[in-house]
Amino acid sequence: MRYKYCPICGRELEERYSWDEGGVPYCPTDDIMYFDVPKPCIIVAVVKEDKILLLKQSYIFKNSKVLLSGYVGNGETVEETVHREVLEESGLRIKDLKYLGSEYLSSKEIIMLTFMAYYNGGELKKSSEVECVSWSDIEDALCEMSEDKIGRNIVKKVLKEIGYKGDKAYRCEI
Ligand SMILES: [Zn+2]
Repeated sequence: MRYKYCPICGRELEERYSWDEGGVPYCPTDDIMYFDVPKPCIIVAVVKEDKILLLKQSYIFKNSKVLLSGYVGNGETVEETVHREVLEESGLRIKDLKYLGSEYLSSKEIIMLTFMAYYNGGELKKSSEVECVSWSDIEDALCEMSEDKIGRNIVKKVLKEIGYKGDKAYRCEI
């Protein structure tokens, strides 16, 4: 999002030239440059043996399950976000985080940082933000996530990471 007014003092921003970024909206009162940056968000596939943790959130997709996700908070590392979101949304602890790459969502100006992680204790306990959270067979995940294209890409990477050799998991892919 390109800022027009200063979110701190409200004055109209000027354009200031930054040698590596070009013209950047700038507030001379607060001496801040407002770079046009995306919102960082994490998405994580939590794996436990042959199961994967999926959520049902009807406001995202009506007929499809999704992976856990959330915005990176100011003051925390991306890894801390992953641990915090999993704990908040499912009550579980995780270990062995692995970064699986990023995806850009232009409609929402979100940069999705994708991860997988392994279950490391705790009982499933859904938060009030979540409609339903449960373990699915990893072989059923792609079928259950029909509307979630980014989530399915992550599950396919997870299947490679865990050395899955079968065909069954891919039966719903065209
Ligand atoms: Zn200002």
